[in-house]
Amino acid sequence: MNVLIVYAHPEPRSLNGALKDFTVQRLQAAGHAVQVSDLYAMAWKAPIDASDSVDHDPATRLDVSEASRRAFASGSQRPDIAAEQEKLRWADGVILQFPLWWFSMPAILKGWVDRVYAYGFAYGVGEHSDARWGDRYGEGSMVGKRAMLVVTTGGWESHYGPRGINGPMDDLLFPIHHGILHYPGFDVLPPFVVHRTSRIDEVRFAGLCEALGERLDNLWRTEPIAYRKQNAGDYEIPALTLKADVAPGQKGFAAHVLQPQA
Ligand code: FAD
Repeated sequence: MNVLIVYAHPEPRSLNGALKDFTVQRLQAAGHAVQVSDLYAMAWKAPIDASDSVDHDPATRLDVSEASRRAFASGSQRPDIAAEQEKLRWADGVILQFPLWWFSMPAILKGWVDRVYAYGFAYGVGEHSDARWGDRYGEGSMVGKRAMLVVTTGGWESHYGPRGINGPMDDLLFPIHHGILHYPGFDVLPPFVVHRTSRIDEVRFAGLCEALGERLDNLWRTEPIAYRKQNAGDYEIPALTLKADVAPGQKGFAAHVLQPQA
């Protein structure tokens, strides 16, 4: 299988750097082909702007979505964007690896998503009408591919528990899992989260590698998070709210995950 790791940390000798190197070795040893987009090493340009379409006329007002749509359709995207899209087409599995910074991904990685997820590539795909709101949330360009987050946090596991002060990790990661990965069609695997990173010595690091190694060995066997699919009958179209008889009484993020049958 082909695995793309999109990695965001400025220091190769960091914990994230060590876990990324471990991941590459483990996947390659299992016979997978691996590519790494090391965003800091690539000096990835994070802000989306007019220069992302090589033929943008500076005299015209920049409409970001429209410029993205046109550049993607006409082949006039900047080459760094097109190259990342090609890696995504190539990949069977994608790992986004990053330290949790201010309860989300580092800005450089968000900028990768903003720019690489072009109109026509990751959104604006499929029929858009009153009867259908495009191929998204379970359908789209990334169907058949799997994705997993590898995330490190300074906070303790309890801080991210169901009643923890930071909010539950599943909730914090929902915009990435559901909004960035499920949206264009990825099967989203449960994340691999390392908590309390200031307390890591050689022994704990070895344990982390063992646990991460197991997750990597099972990348193609692990059950994805059972997010509901937009076009599978659970949502009213075009309001895109859950139908009254689906998960009655449930609200918020968890309502968009299929519940196991009792
Ligand atoms: P490093 O600092 O590189 O390493 C952490 C520990 O691992 C060190 O003790 C180091 O000795 C050890 N280590 C590293 N490599 C190895 C190795 N090969 N073998 C054994 N031990 C090793 N945390 C939150 O919980 N929530 C937040 O919202 C949040 N926001 C942040 C915002 C910013 C801007 C910053 C800078 C930090 C924030 N943090 C937050 C903390 C952040 O998540 C952690 O600092 C980060 O996850 C640690 O990962 P690292 O790769 O930078 O670790």
